[in-house]
Amino acid sequence: MTTLRTPAQLCEHGLTPPDRQPALAAVAAHYAVAVPDALAQLIDRADPKDPIARQIIPDPAELDHRPEELTDPIGDDAHSPVEGIVHRYRDRVLLKLSHVCSVYCRFCFRREMVGPDKPNALSKQALARALEYIRTHPEIWEVILTGGDPLILSPRRLHSVMNAFADIDHVKIVRIHTRVPVADPKRVTPALVRAMKIKVKPTYLAVHVNHPRELTADARAACSRMADAGIPLLSQTVLLAGVNDTPEVMGELMRALVECRIKPYYLHHGDLAPGTSHFRTEVTTGQQLMRNLRGRFSGLCQPTYVLDIPGGHGKSPVGSTYIERVESDDCTHFVVEDFNGRRHRYPPQAANVESPGGRGRPLPLQARQSR
Ligand code: SF4
Repeated sequence: MTTLRTPAQLCEHGLTPPDRQPALAAVAAHYAVAVPDALAQLIDRADPKDPIARQIIPDPAELDHRPEELTDPIGDDAHSPVEGIVHRYRDRVLLKLSHVCSVYCRFCFRREMVGPDKPNALSKQALARALEYIRTHPEIWEVILTGGDPLILSPRRLHSVMNAFADIDHVKIVRIHTRVPVADPKRVTPALVRAMKIKVKPTYLAVHVNHPRELTADARAACSRMADAGIPLLSQTVLLAGVNDTPEVMGELMRALVECRIKPYYLHHGDLAPGTSHFRTEVTTGQQLMRNLRGRFSGLCQPTYVLDIPGGHGKSPVGSTYIERVESDDCTHFVVEDFNGRRHRYPPQAANVESPGGRGRPLPLQARQSR
């Protein structure tokens, strides 16, 4: 089986019932469909709530557009000085090489911009202008290749883009964001891995994984090929209702990532992309999941829970806070929560604390500041 791209093909392979075809055709007319073999094989056809199917099989709910949803939910366009570049943060830019992906995720925040009916890739001239922009902005320390999926490029094409960065002194880091290792792991060939590397500059790779079942033997082997080649691996996960919004699934996913030598990096709150309200959770759900991770799992398993502020204002961490500043007339201190939810004063009101205020009493704020 190859990649399935139409509701009729999905139906033929038992991934959707025949009576759903007309409704899915209406969705497919609007948003690209691609269900690669590697992910189709993971779907339990007997489970109407299968978390892999939920992410990649179109759903009529995608045509339910809410007033708060935005075609450009994280505000890329507002920060695009030239085609293909998004320069939102001073020290880094996104470079969007392609609008094509191996899989079209039903919750994608760039769903209005990705798909085969969009321009396939930056033209040669547009790429030259994007590289010139990077070359003439010495504040750019890091370039992030994103998409579409940059690993959809051939090794030869990727290598030529990576080589361009080798000659730009101020670019020290290149990061690739991709879903290919789980969506099409066989595409991560030794030649593609070689193409990701640049002489004397590190390439980091952020793999998009949302459910532990996505880390199949083939996906793990693809990640190993990159890790063995010295490419540090990070993860990106989107918090998705019905996919990974339980403590069990999120914990299992974070552990599986670490076992694959992938450091959990970001847990994204679902963006306000059109037709994705059925995937979005409350922020408090994400915070509760993060608390569970903090309390029960290794420090290696902790991503940062972030929300992209609509309008292009960037990402902010939105996880729980564990420390609170407490002020009173004569002193200030903090209250810190431990992994069991118990609260502790810091510094403690320990009997052995020497202070002008007397043994065991907290220092007045003024005295503490002057020490
Ligand atoms: S792989 Fe990334 S860019 Fe492509 S559809 Fe999925 S989330 Fe969107």
